[in-house]
Amino acid sequence: MRLFGGFLAACCAAFGLAASAAEVERPPQFIVFSYDNCTELDRWRELISFSEEMNRDSPRVHFTFFVSGTNFLADRKRHIYSGPRNPAGASKINFGGPPEDIRARIELINRAHGDGHEIASHAVGHFDGRQWSAADWSQEFSIHRSLFQNIARNNELEDSASFAFPAAEVAGFRAPYLSTSPGLFEAMRESKFAYDASGVGHAHEWPDKKDGIWRFNLASLRIAGSGKMTLSMDYNFYVAQSGAFNNPSQHALFREQMQSTYMNYLRANYTGNRAPVHIGHHFSTFQGGIYNQALLAFARTVCGLPEVKCVTYTKLVQFMESLDPERLAAYRKGEFPRATFPAFDLVRASTQ
Ligand SMILES: [Zn+2]
Repeated sequence: MRLFGGFLAACCAAFGLAASAAEVERPPQFIVFSYDNCTELDRWRELISFSEEMNRDSPRVHFTFFVSGTNFLADRKRHIYSGPRNPAGASKINFGGPPEDIRARIELINRAHGDGHEIASHAVGHFDGRQWSAADWSQEFSIHRSLFQNIARNNELEDSASFAFPAAEVAGFRAPYLSTSPGLFEAMRESKFAYDASGVGHAHEWPDKKDGIWRFNLASLRIAGSGKMTLSMDYNFYVAQSGAFNNPSQHALFREQMQSTYMNYLRANYTGNRAPVHIGHHFSTFQGGIYNQALLAFARTVCGLPEVKCVTYTKLVQFMESLDPERLAAYRKGEFPRATFPAFDLVRASTQ
């Protein structure tokens, strides 16, 4: 299609022929790793140094961070925030800690952004918005933007304690609890978001754009070595594997199951229709941190393999926008020469 697209379109339209499978080039295998909430400073440091090491010679992995707006307000300034249908100072998650944590977080976020990672939004107070109107969502989005822009003043920090990039670059959203309402998408359009990552879908689905917003879905997966289904998200493994109870005697098994499940997900898509792989985690250390160890071991194993691109959601949006409808339809059906899975060195998760 790249070489002969114009010619084929002209010839085949004239002769009423369908485009043949052989003309469509195989798309890359995208993998998007994302994190929600993004409060803990140690986790920022760990992920920044992990990716700096991975990307030393050439870019291999970039993350998308869905940052909650409470991270932009020191605890003692919490009254500045009034969430939709909630009193001033209320939130379902922690605020940003002492002012020195706010300053450190700004520096880390600026460094992550400068390294090519994406900063996106996870709303502010982590409320369940399934009953929210478009106006409620718009209010929450504009507060997130305002907290981002006024972080120095709100926290009585020096002016240099500010983000090094504009709030307009925050182009993506994931809803707390993945709880959406019809008004969300109206509010997202008004606030000029490019994509929503709150959905759930099948592992082999290519993304859709609906009402001007790209929809990226976490995948429904069967946990390797068990009959259980879960989502491609750490918290959902935690619930499915242990009923959300810490169980140290099972840590090695649970970590191994997650890593194998992600490998199965990638292998099926890589050798199938190349639908992007979506993996969403949190900064929290459920089950003693084994899930983050599994994710990093998986990333180390696969990011950099031939045709694999571990990119941010904004990069995936750019790719999706570059496709014409016929090509995307061919991708959905897997109408291109299929690949076999490349040889790889399995990196085992370590506890550091
Ligand atoms: Zn969350």
